[in-house]
Amino acid sequence: NERLISPQSNREDDAVDRAIRPKRLADYIGQPALKEQMEIFIHAAKGRGEALDHVLIFGPPGLGKTTLANILANEMGVNIRHTSGPVLEKAGDLAALLTNLEQGDVLFIDEIHRLSAVVEESLYPAMEDYQIDIMIGEGPAARSIKLDLPPFTLVGATTRAGLLTSPLRDRFGIVQRLEFYSVEDLTRIVERSARILGLTMHHDGAVEVARRSRGTPRIANRLLRRVRDYAEVKSDGHVTAEVAAKALEMLKVDQVGFDPLDRKLLKVMIDMFDGGPVGLDSLAAAISEERGTIEDVLEPYLIQQGYIMRTPRGRVATRMAYLHFGLEAPRAAAP
Ligand code: ADP
Repeated sequence: NERLISPQSNREDDAVDRAIRPKRLADYIGQPALKEQMEIFIHAAKGRGEALDHVLIFGPPGLGKTTLANILANEMGVNIRHTSGPVLEKAGDLAALLTNLEQGDVLFIDEIHRLSAVVEESLYPAMEDYQIDIMIGEGPAARSIKLDLPPFTLVGATTRAGLLTSPLRDRFGIVQRLEFYSVEDLTRIVERSARILGLTMHHDGAVEVARRSRGTPRIANRLLRRVRDYAEVKSDGHVTAEVAAKALEMLKVDQVGFDPLDRKLLKVMIDMFDGGPVGLDSLAAAISEERGTIEDVLEPYLIQQGYIMRTPRGRVATRMAYLHFGLEAPRAAAP
C-alpha cells in the first residue's frame, strides 16, 4: 500500500509503532466516553476475579482498535493472542487457539466480519459457555466431543458494524465504537510520539500535522515521520509549523489532509457525474479502485467532514466539495 495517508499499516509503521503505541489506558489519548467505561468494566472484572466480558470494537482503520485490545489485556494482566477473520479457515484453527488460552486471556480477532460461517458458529458456544465441540476421527467413525475452555475474553474488531451477523454481535457484552479524533487529540498524539522519538517539535508544528491527519492516529504518526525526515534534511531538525507545512505540501497532502486519491474521487464526482447521486460501483470503476476501498478507507472521513453525502440513490458531492476546488456549486447541490 503506497498511499502516504492510507489508514492501513505498512511495515515501517509496525516497526516504529512498537515504541510509540500506548500500553496503558491512561496513555490512550481521546475517546473519553470509551475510556471511562472501560476503566469501570476492567476494575469490576478484576475485583470479582473474572475474565472481562467479550468486547466488540468497531471503527475505520487506524483509529486504535488493535491498540485498545492490547491495552485491555495489559490492564487485566493477561496474555493476548492475535488472529484475524480471514486467517481462521477451519473450525480446527479456532479450536487450536482457544484450547491454548489460559484463564482470563484475551483472544483478539481482527476483521471479525470476515470469519467463515462454520468458524463463526463454532465461536458461539465458546463465547457463551466457554465450551467448544471438537471432531475426532474421520468418516463413519467420526464423533464430536465437548471440551471445556478457561473463561477468556474475546475482543473482536471490525471496520463497519453493519457487516456483522446479529447472532455474533449479540454475544458481545461490551460494544465500543471509535470515532475520528479531534485536531486537539491528534495534536497530543503527535506531541507524545515526537517526544518518544526524541524530536524537537513546536506546538504549532504538531497542530499542522494533526490538521492533515484525517482524524486518524496512524496517519498522524506516519506524517510525523515524514515531516521529521524533511526537517532533518532541509532544516535544522526542529519541526516548526512552517517546516511541517512545507513537508506536507511536498508530500501532496493538502490543508485538510486530502491526498491525490481523495481529490480524484471528489473531482470525478463533480466532473463526470455532475455531483451525483452516483453509485459506488460506478465511482469505483471511474477511479480504478475497489469498491471496498472507497467504503472502508476513502469515504468515511469525507462523509464525516461533510464533503460527501450518502443517499439512497448513491453518493453526492456537497457544496463543500465544490468549494474545496474553488468551484462554484450548482444551485441544487447538497448543503
Ligand atoms: P486499528 O487497529 O484500528 O487499525 P491501531 O490500533 O493499529 O489501529 O492504531 C494505529 C496506531 O495509532 C497505533 O499503533 C498507535 O500508535 C496509534 N494510536 C491509535 N489510537 C491511539 C490513541 N488513542 N492514543 C495514542 N495513539 C494511538
